[in-house]
Order: sequence, then structure tokens, then C-alpha cells
Amino acid sequence: MTREELELLVNTNIMNLGHDVFDKLERLMDDTLITNEKFNLTAIKDKESFRELMIYDSLTVLKYINFADKEAIDVGTGAGYPGLPLALATSGKFTLLDSTKKKIDHINEYAKNNEIDNAVGVSARAEEYALKNREKYDYVISRAVAQLNVLLELCIPLLKENGIFIAMKGAKAEEEIKQACNALKKLNCEVVEINRINLPLSKEERNIILIKKLAITNNRYPRKYNEIKAKPL
Ligand code: SAM
Repeated sequence: MTREELELLVNTNIMNLGHDVFDKLERLMDDTLITNEKFNLTAIKDKESFRELMIYDSLTVLKYINFADKEAIDVGTGAGYPGLPLALATSGKFTLLDSTKKKIDHINEYAKNNEIDNAVGVSARAEEYALKNREKYDYVISRAVAQLNVLLELCIPLLKENGIFIAMKGAKAEEEIKQACNALKKLNCEVVEINRINLPLSKEERNIILIKKLAITNNRYPRKYNEIKAKPL
């Protein structure tokens, strides 16, 4: 996908963003690709694929969610995806959480150098961060981190009551939702939308699952990671 195609496809299929936003997204991509050579941040190494699989894919969420002036957290953000593109495209306030410190240090340096004041990186494990930051966020978002039944226990405690967890999943979304029935129940939440899309050029399937938190999370969750992993809800 060329820069011109990205701009046209986002503006047609997702939402209208100004030229200046695409300039910033292009700079972010260049930086991630350069840093990739040092830190191995992502497997996608050419610009054409990067624009579709990292930038366009991150922005698809904007079709369903209005982040304006809301507090969101991207759990397992890696090199900053989807959180950084979303911060560049909206006025939402994003916490970018990852357990790998070198990735977070890089995100914070990038945000500082590029005067991005609505994104802050935090280096911590989600299940530990959740202990002191319960019921804090309007939105929690996560892409490519864990199976839904595991992910729910990491993410739902961070959400405010009535907040929405946005799980960005591939073609196995329905299967993962079925496996997560018990987790949904134990964590007082329900699937409210499954938005299936295909990426415009590769046609890869994506599912943006919206999960609403119906009531405050019991203090016993999240458990320690080895318990979550050994006995997912
Ligand atoms: N979300 C990014 C993306 O889509 O490009 C990165 C995906 S990468 C496959 C998964 C990331 O989740 C890794 O950077 C890893 O360090 C992080 N991660 C996994 N488990 C985590 C946890 N319990 N708490 C915080 N980060 C976690």
C-alpha cells in the first residue's frame, strides 16, 4: 500500500483524517522500521506491508470507537501498535503498556521527540499494573497478545464499569469467544459487537470485538500470571 492508497482507503473506509495526520503516521512508520533493525520490534519490514498491516489495521478501530477526550490503555503494545497510530489520529489519552522495557523506553523517547503529549509508555506486566490501576480506563485495547480467555483477565480489571474492551482478533475470533464464555461470566462482561472486516489489499480477515464491562471486577482477578496461564478462566 502506498502512502496515497493508505490516505484514500482510510478516508473512504474508516474516517476522514487530515494530511498532517498521515505525515505523522509516515514518520512513525519510518522510525519503527529503523528501530526494528536494532530491537527487532516487529516482523513486518517493508513499507508497503507495514502501511496495511500496522497502520491501516490499527486505525480500523476508529470506525467503531470515538476516543475523543477518553482514557484508553493499549495492553501489550509492543512497538506502539495500535496505540500510537490511534494517539496520532485522535484526542484520546493513551497509556501504552508492555512488559518489555526497551520497547517502552523507545516509545517514550519517540513521544518526547515528536511532541506527542497524549501517549505515555509504561513498562509493566498487565496483571501487576492492574492491581494499582483498577477500574481506571474508558477503553482497553489489545492486539496480538494472548487468547481471549487469558486476555480478558488481564484487561477487564483495568476498565471502568460500562467501559469497553476492544479485542483486535484475526479469523479465529468466534472460536476464541466460545472458549471465553466462562471468563466473560466471571469478569462480569459481555460481547456487544463483533465487527468483521477484511484488510483492503491482502484481504486478511480481522474481527474487532467490543466487550462491555457490566459490573466492577471481583478483587480476586487478575490472578498471578502463572495461575492465569495454567488455569485460564
Ligand atoms: N500489540 C502489538 C502489535 O500488535 O504489534 C505487539 C504484539 S506482540 C506479538 C505481544 C506483546 O505483548 C509483546 O511486546 C509482549 O512483551 C507483550 N505482553 C505479553 N504479555 C504481556 C503482559 N502480561 N503484560 C504486558 N505486556 C505483555
